[in-house]
Amino acid sequence: MRIAIETPFEQFRNDIGDVVRLFYGEGAAVTIEEPHDAELVHTHQTEEGTWIEHFALSGSFDGLTMTMRGEAVTDGGLEEKRQLKRLMKRCAYQLFKQATGRQPAWGSLTGIRPTRLYYQQMENGKSREEARAALFDLFDLSKEKIDLLDEIITAQEGLIRRPQNACDLYIGIPFCTTRCAYCSFSSGEIGDGKLVEPYLAALFHEIDQCSRMAQEMGLDIRVGYIGGGTPSSLTTGQLDRLLSHMQRRFGRLEELTVEAGRPDTLDMEKLTMLRSHPVTRISINPQTMNDETLRVIGRAHTAQQTIDTYELARSLGFDDINMDVIAALPGEDYAMFSHTLDIIRSLAPDSLTVHTLAIKRSSKLHEQKYQQQEEDVARMVELGRETAHAMGMQAYYLYRQKYMAQNLENVGYAKKGSICRYNIDNMEETTSVLALGAGGISKCVMRQEEKILRAPNIANIEQYISRVDEMVERKIAAFSEKAAMIRAWKEAASCADQR
Ligand code: SF4
Repeated sequence: MRIAIETPFEQFRNDIGDVVRLFYGEGAAVTIEEPHDAELVHTHQTEEGTWIEHFALSGSFDGLTMTMRGEAVTDGGLEEKRQLKRLMKRCAYQLFKQATGRQPAWGSLTGIRPTRLYYQQMENGKSREEARAALFDLFDLSKEKIDLLDEIITAQEGLIRRPQNACDLYIGIPFCTTRCAYCSFSSGEIGDGKLVEPYLAALFHEIDQCSRMAQEMGLDIRVGYIGGGTPSSLTTGQLDRLLSHMQRRFGRLEELTVEAGRPDTLDMEKLTMLRSHPVTRISINPQTMNDETLRVIGRAHTAQQTIDTYELARSLGFDDINMDVIAALPGEDYAMFSHTLDIIRSLAPDSLTVHTLAIKRSSKLHEQKYQQQEEDVARMVELGRETAHAMGMQAYYLYRQKYMAQNLENVGYAKKGSICRYNIDNMEETTSVLALGAGGISKCVMRQEEKILRAPNIANIEQYISRVDEMVERKIAAFSEKAAMIRAWKEAASCADQR
């Protein structure tokens, strides 16, 4: 489907295009040129403090129109832009809903963090019931998705408003044994491993500099996450050195996850070493329990290896193990996904993340022009949810990505006591993150000012190694404003103590 869009707001053309893609998939082209299958003409008027949006669709839908009114916001700033965009998208959404007879599960929402809209409603003084009603009225969300958001908001109670100086630590290891066909990360295959030592040297330098910065600025770091890539693709000795160095500089953390994603990178020696450090949570990711799919997606392990590694980790005393699965992998139908979930249920991990396959432009699947399957994906995702509930878990974080099958979602489920705070902080963006290593994106969250300063590290491994000092400088620049705020906050707290 190629749709030409005419709008008086050039800056919103892509946002209207996002609505079109909700109905026609990521393959839909939004264009301003011939040839096209249909033309969407948008007009905008303001009358007595009211915005009037009007969309008309030509081509095979000739004559279909939609008009929507909303109170005009005229602050000339961000709120005006936000409200105008929202009204336009709602109007275009209703038009395409009528044209196609379809209702996307997430309604007109195209953003990646739907929980944020729920929180916004509550910040505006609405009760949970009123917030639910508003999500339905404003965005046409289905009851199932509103229930899902509700479950997450409940699970996050007491966990998202951390003190002003709280900051999480992320360390990225951008190496994997092989590249998964759906991978869009900048991770490199570890190959002959010759980049690993120079990478670790640069990373240790960044750890040294940033731990000093964190101390001077008064950041309180208690939650850590070593991700990637696959951190367990390092040798036992390398990973041991990294964990020791991290602990020397940042101390013992209350929560520390190590993504040990590929079962083929783990053995008795490496798991025993991980147990000797204060690692509180590991992730062993099957993605699927079907060997043929594992081969097709380029993972160098079998389902049996996942089971054996999981059981070995349990026998060594790991009491918080996460597993990731992906719905709608190439060639997989409902029965195959169900088989994966049956095995996971028998293993009983402490948390489960149910992803929906997203085919990003930088993935091999995209290069191979793989066509996303649409059939049964929603049922698969729902089965993942039922399985998590049957294992005694609740949903506690969620995010959506572009190019996901049926515009669905990724959801993290966990048993009580196994919620990963880092995942919540990272998704909700209410706590700062100091991210070290290639591709890490540090976020300095200024809650009062409602802004987030981001300091991205370069993703290319060689560039990261040669420019590591620049990465440190970026973080110092982003966090220095917060440091002044933390000092003021601490002074106010100590004055209050003395009174
Ligand atoms: S394990 Fe993750 S980072 Fe590594 S190739 Fe697969 S998807 Fe990419």
